[in-house]
Amino acid sequence: MCPGGSSASAGMAPTAAGMRAAQPLSDLAAAAANAVTAANIAESNLPNDLDDEPLYAARRKIYPQHVSGTFRRLKWALLVVTLGIYYFLPFVRWDRGPNAPNQAVLIDFPGRRFYFFFIEIWPQEVYYLTGLLIVAAMALFLMNAVAGRLWCGYLCPQTVWTDLFVTVERWIEGDRREHLLRDQQPWSFERAARAAAKHFCWLMIAWWTGGAWVLYFGDAPTLVRELATFKAPPVAYGFIAILTFTTYALAGWMREQVCVYMCPWPRIQAALTDEYALNVCYRYDRGEPRASLKKAAALHEHGLPAGDCIDCRQCVYVCPTGVDIRNGPNLGCIQCGLCIDACDAVMAKIGRASRLIAYDNDQNIRARQQGGKTSYQFVRTRTVLYAAIIAVVGGVMAYTLATRHAQALTVIHDRNPLFVRLSDGSVRNGYAVHIANKHRESQNFVLQVTGLAGADVETIGSERNAEGEPVVAVGPDQTRQVRVIVTTRQPLEPEASIPLTFSILTASGEVGATATDRFVGP
Ligand code: SF4
Ligand code: SF4
Repeated sequence: MCPGGSSASAGMAPTAAGMRAAQPLSDLAAAAANAVTAANIAESNLPNDLDDEPLYAARRKIYPQHVSGTFRRLKWALLVVTLGIYYFLPFVRWDRGPNAPNQAVLIDFPGRRFYFFFIEIWPQEVYYLTGLLIVAAMALFLMNAVAGRLWCGYLCPQTVWTDLFVTVERWIEGDRREHLLRDQQPWSFERAARAAAKHFCWLMIAWWTGGAWVLYFGDAPTLVRELATFKAPPVAYGFIAILTFTTYALAGWMREQVCVYMCPWPRIQAALTDEYALNVCYRYDRGEPRASLKKAAALHEHGLPAGDCIDCRQCVYVCPTGVDIRNGPNLGCIQCGLCIDACDAVMAKIGRASRLIAYDNDQNIRARQQGGKTSYQFVRTRTVLYAAIIAVVGGVMAYTLATRHAQALTVIHDRNPLFVRLSDGSVRNGYAVHIANKHRESQNFVLQVTGLAGADVETIGSERNAEGEPVVAVGPDQTRQVRVIVTTRQPLEPEASIPLTFSILTASGEVGATATDRFVGP
């Protein structure tokens, strides 16, 4: 089985073992294959068969080797784009006119607004966040249904920052071999100096990461000046300290352990995947039985088969989580594709076809093994469903954003008392009316209440226009609450509950917003 996850990890071992057992190998071939298999298991950095392992295993430090290739280039590009957005987006300006912040992306807690370029979200519109979360979850599910842990391998902040930290480490400590050898030497001035330089750089990146985070919560250039002159609010320094520590610890020290032990997504992902999803797979139909070039030549001399895998372990050396992908799916495999690049480079050197490790699935590998046809089905019930949910929720959000009014109205009926009977027999109901003005200028809204013929509408603390209608002035980008009293002298049915419509009219006489409530009687 190719789909990733611990639940699937046990499935691959019998598959590969069964495959080797079924082949009519001579003693020579069997010895070669078995020797290679045993070595692989012994040297594997992470356990694939958890039943045979103790429940606790000390961490083995991983020294990922540099690799070049298609997936590495893709990861570089995504690293530059994602980190570039994160670090520099707070400095992007967006003109919203006077009396409004000009930062493109801003979470304004004091002003209780979220600004995202031309979108401005008010606290009462937090349902957009719900929509955004649904779209994000469905996008994650869709990625998983198409090609496994795409999020983990290329976009997850843990992966991106770890990649950056590993790159810095490689610049300072050297590539895998050099770093490994130095770590085995006793401490020297050079070793200590390199380690100190590495940790200093890591801390600087971590500090910048924390610093960039707080810039999303205030005007970035102003906040930078305040931070530099120690005039920023203490909470800003607190968050920078917390994020500096977490970034340094998670990306510098914990790395793959976050993916293997802390993150819930690999477990959820394993439960959500199916047999059609593509995953980074070792194509054992091509690779087995593994044999070095020398052994392969010997096997061929005897007319025996040898696979394309020469057991050079380059795929393991480049793996940032220390997985041997040839042992089958593993919870530790974040599916970054770097082992594909490493193996492709080996195949190119020895003149064999590329993609011995590739995005594939076990169904296709078995089909090839049995001489059958492979099939790649991207359009399946689940992919269509996920895409449809994304389209519907995204479409509804886009529509409501495009058509929403620049003013809003909410009405809350008095809870106690629900009504008051006056000495002249008339009945009175009270309401708290909130009017939000999202314009950058003050607005005068005419308040109308319809549904109860002949009723008096009184607003406390507002003017009246020439027609005697209540006019409520609301400042720019503000909300105002007014108390509205509706009184009727008409006889009412016992326990009457009459629907009322509250409307606000803009200066041009258009209905800006409406809300409904009820007038209740004794
Ligand atoms: S890099 Fe390729 S050839 Fe080398 S061990 Fe890995 S799968 Fe085999
Ligand atoms: S096994 Fe390959 S795809 Fe998986 S994490 Fe390691 S290098 Fe990346």
